[in-house]
Amino acid sequence: MLKRDIGLNTICTHSGAVEDVVYGGAVSPIYMSTSYDFIDKSTKRYPRYFNTPNQELLAKKIAALEAAEAGLIFSSGMAAISNVMLMALKSGDHAVIQNDIYGGTRNLIESHFKSYGIDYSFTKDLTSKSFKDCIKTNTKLIYIETPSNPMLKLVDIFAIAKLGKSKGILTAIDNTFATPVIQKPITLGVDIVIHSATKYFGGHSDITAGAVASSQKIVDKLWDLAKDFGGNLSDFSVWMLERSMKTLAIRVKAQQKNARKLARFLEKHAAVEAVYYPGLKSHPNHDLAKTQMRGYGAMLSFQLHENYPALSFLKSLILIKPNMSLAGVESTMIMPSKTSHALLSEADRKAQGISDQLIRFSVGIESKKDLIYDIKHALNVCKK
Ligand SMILES: *Cc1c(COP(=O)(O)O)cnc(C)c1O
Repeated sequence: MLKRDIGLNTICTHSGAVEDVVYGGAVSPIYMSTSYDFIDKSTKRYPRYFNTPNQELLAKKIAALEAAEAGLIFSSGMAAISNVMLMALKSGDHAVIQNDIYGGTRNLIESHFKSYGIDYSFTKDLTSKSFKDCIKTNTKLIYIETPSNPMLKLVDIFAIAKLGKSKGILTAIDNTFATPVIQKPITLGVDIVIHSATKYFGGHSDITAGAVASSQKIVDKLWDLAKDFGGNLSDFSVWMLERSMKTLAIRVKAQQKNARKLARFLEKHAAVEAVYYPGLKSHPNHDLAKTQMRGYGAMLSFQLHENYPALSFLKSLILIKPNMSLAGVESTMIMPSKTSHALLSEADRKAQGISDQLIRFSVGIESKKDLIYDIKHALNVCKK
């Protein structure tokens, strides 16, 4: 590697590649072996020890992207999240959790923490004060996710990191929606960054994976637990993920450029009552977005007028897929009330601003004019 600070796209393409010293091939060879020579070797390699050549080197790429000392690759985003939480929290400890978080994470906490003797509080809202108010003497972790799903609300990352530091509490962030292309929480003082690599890191809707980036000390502690829980990713998927990440920055930048234009288009359309996108001046956290994000991401939500029933709108789309999950190069839309937030009570959904007419839009890399045409056409078809 060059001995200087290298640019984002260079990190994406080159950091952590496994050099092909035998044949000089341009891409990383893939090591599928589950059995490695141990004689005179300082490292005992085994896939579940997270230390095969492909795993170790991809972890370095992710650490480099997040400006972290070290990283670890997991078999899913939830594997990464659960390992981090159970590393940070023991029986008798307490966690402060952002109210508006990914459904799987919420479920992990609400369904299992009690039986492990771990106490938790969900914040009232996303203000820093709300996090501070939840802190107890036994609080060991503050957990955030910004921008949030599906309302794209923001948490002040620097303020939360500072709060954690002042009380000696670990802070962790789910950075899936933003990616390190848009925000690098470690540089703002957060201790642990987590990703569902199933989303933008993979980017092509064909890999499930997770990742963690942090200090060497924390990653060592995490490894100690993770090797026993056994949530490593298969080396074939690790190799696929490394390939996908070479285009992470150019994909995310193209997607967010589209998202910004589509947010403006939707905001002006008579069928749309509200658009939730941090890049719009109307967004309540627009100024915060400017300070902690580089760009505004490629996720947005919008509220359709009642004359345009959300379900028939989705059924009328031709190009944009009404698919679960997000962040692929192809655009997708969902109704959070029927999918990601279907398990919440109607009152809880209402409290979060999630109506039956809300659509979450994961903007892809297609030509902007085709996306606009598709939306206009579907709105015409579904109009009552
Ligand atoms: C999808 C997602 C997860 C869970 O990741 P999996 O790879 O599905 O386990 C966690 N957080 C966010 C924000 C997500 O979008």
